[in-house]
Amino acid sequence: MPTDVATPLSALHGSTLSAQGNSQHCPPFGDIVRPIHLSTTFERAADGSYPGGRTYARDQSPAYDDAEAVLCALEGGRASLLFASGLAAATSVVQALAPGDRVLAPRACYWAWRKWLLEVATPWGIRVDWYDNADTAHLALLLAAAPTRLVWIETPANPTWEVTDIAEVAHLARAHGALVVVDSTVATPVLTRPLALGAHLVLHSATKYLNGHSDVVAGALVAGDLPDALWMRIRQIRGLGGAVLGPFEAWLLVRGMRTLYLRVHAASANALRLAHALTTHPAVLEVLYPGLPQHAGHAIAARQMQGGFSGMLSVRMVGGETAAIAAAGRLRLFRQATSLGSVESLVEHRASVEGPDSMCPRDLLRLSVGIEHADDLLADLQQALIAT
Ligand code: PLP
Repeated sequence: MPTDVATPLSALHGSTLSAQGNSQHCPPFGDIVRPIHLSTTFERAADGSYPGGRTYARDQSPAYDDAEAVLCALEGGRASLLFASGLAAATSVVQALAPGDRVLAPRACYWAWRKWLLEVATPWGIRVDWYDNADTAHLALLLAAAPTRLVWIETPANPTWEVTDIAEVAHLARAHGALVVVDSTVATPVLTRPLALGAHLVLHSATKYLNGHSDVVAGALVAGDLPDALWMRIRQIRGLGGAVLGPFEAWLLVRGMRTLYLRVHAASANALRLAHALTTHPAVLEVLYPGLPQHAGHAIAARQMQGGFSGMLSVRMVGGETAAIAAAGRLRLFRQATSLGSVESLVEHRASVEGPDSMCPRDLLRLSVGIEHADDLLADLQQALIAT
């Protein structure tokens, strides 16, 4: 069965596991790249049993096995589930709770997630209280004030890149009997392994770095020591809700993950170089990047993130919103588009895309730094960011 996929290769380095893509032992031909598993239904034996252990592909597609196994091994988890999107994975976690349960969520987080918590989860009866991402003392007060089922962490948090100390929050939350979920979309298992730091569950928008080529929308969860009943409930919600990935997307995801380590390291090195260069640019008010020593979360990030600080950074412009939008329009290599974590660099004026209830500063441009040559990216930024 696809749950609790065995990870016999877990003694290997993550870069080895991801490069191999779980393609060992592939009978009958010894394929190096596995074929795409398309069957939606599976045949019973004469006695009515299912010899292959699968009934129907909505929840049991063999097409998910490789991506789930690789991700599970990379995160050091005990089981993994793929979903049709990052949000489908996230909403399944909260749907597995009961009305009346309390969730503590960070004030800075992916805006559509905040919107779902406010506009769907809250009317449905989930109580959501908000903590300041980097303020564990504030979180401790909230935990002491009322019983809490779940603490949600997003680190670094999109699009302002606040850093949360996963180990400290997990310690606090566990002392209060609360579960900890980490949206590790931006850090990826290359840079951070939240389960080893005490989290119960890791979430990825696999649309971003895991796939890495702007051609798949997907999500994933990886369970650590989450109670079995809750994990089975999440799995049931995926199966009954039907938010599942197509086989081709699952196959593409494995293909993307084969270069995950190279891509994340290259993007992180590029972003660090650009972040340093932009701090002294006259058109730039502030560079938001956890890799910079002046970033409020730098010390925690330096401890928690190994091998880089991700390819995501934001700049706030001296000339405000007008200057930000104009600069985005002048960029050539940085393409103006939403999303992040791909091989090509993207730029976005987040406040415009998030709409009137956006909490994002209006002078902010989000840069998803890709794996192009850093000199070319820097030259593009130099010609686009004009001091006013
Ligand atoms: N989490 C983070 C940090 C994101 O940036 C996003 C999307 O941008 C999501 C979750 C949602 O993922 P998806 O777009 O795959 O549903």
